[in-house]
Amino acid sequence: MRLVLFGPPGAGKGTQARMLEARLGAPQVATGDLLRAAVREGSALGIQARRCMEQGQLVADEIVFKMVEERLARPDASSGFILDGFPRTVTQAEALDRMLEQRGERLDRVVLMKVDDEEIVKRITGRRTCAKCGAIFHVVFDPPRQPGRCNACGGELYQRKDDAEETVRMRLRVYLEATRPLVNYYVRSGLLATVDAVGSADEVGRRILGALGCNSGAIPRGAGAAVKAGG
Ligand code: AMP
Repeated sequence: MRLVLFGPPGAGKGTQARMLEARLGAPQVATGDLLRAAVREGSALGIQARRCMEQGQLVADEIVFKMVEERLARPDASSGFILDGFPRTVTQAEALDRMLEQRGERLDRVVLMKVDDEEIVKRITGRRTCAKCGAIFHVVFDPPRQPGRCNACGGELYQRKDDAEETVRMRLRVYLEATRPLVNYYVRSGLLATVDAVGSADEVGRRILGALGCNSGAIPRGAGAAVKAGG
């Protein structure tokens, strides 16, 4: 299945994409993760992207598209993928359609995960990420056993710069202006399904599978519990 998970930052796209990977047998392709890896590596692309990311702005379409193109060319994405955080602009959506057309493919579904702004601010500002393994916790909804330490590897938990309140509000404004117009784009192509993304990760997962026409029985109970606060 070729799927796009789409919605505001903090809607839980990452959590759901990771749960769906096993269920659909298709890899998660998260542009935020690809960009953060480039920043960690200190590549030229990473250096260019870093500033935009820290300010809650979008990284240039060409940079992001090139990363996605390279990632989707890998063999594990040949028969399906779950795009998480891409496309985020109409230009990116058009470039994706063109690229898929060249491969003789098309998207099967675009799922919009709906959450209101105040819920998002609560979710993201409480999010803490492990510096070592990337696991995600939440100070209220999913606290680590030992404050400031990762349950999985003992690594130090930190707040991503773009998870600070002021930056989250900027990211929401950017979402409204640049990304929301994609709703109409995908309504027109008949691909859009809208899902209420408030509730436990398992509940939201069942709603998404329902929207995809899949039987939800195969999602193990509790799967994704450690990443409840994921974006
Ligand atoms: P995320 O982890 O998806 O919330 O992404 C973190 C940041 O990476 C965003 O706030 C943007 O700065 C950048 N980013 C991720 N995906 C894209 C994209 N498709 N287009 C432009 N910038 C992106």
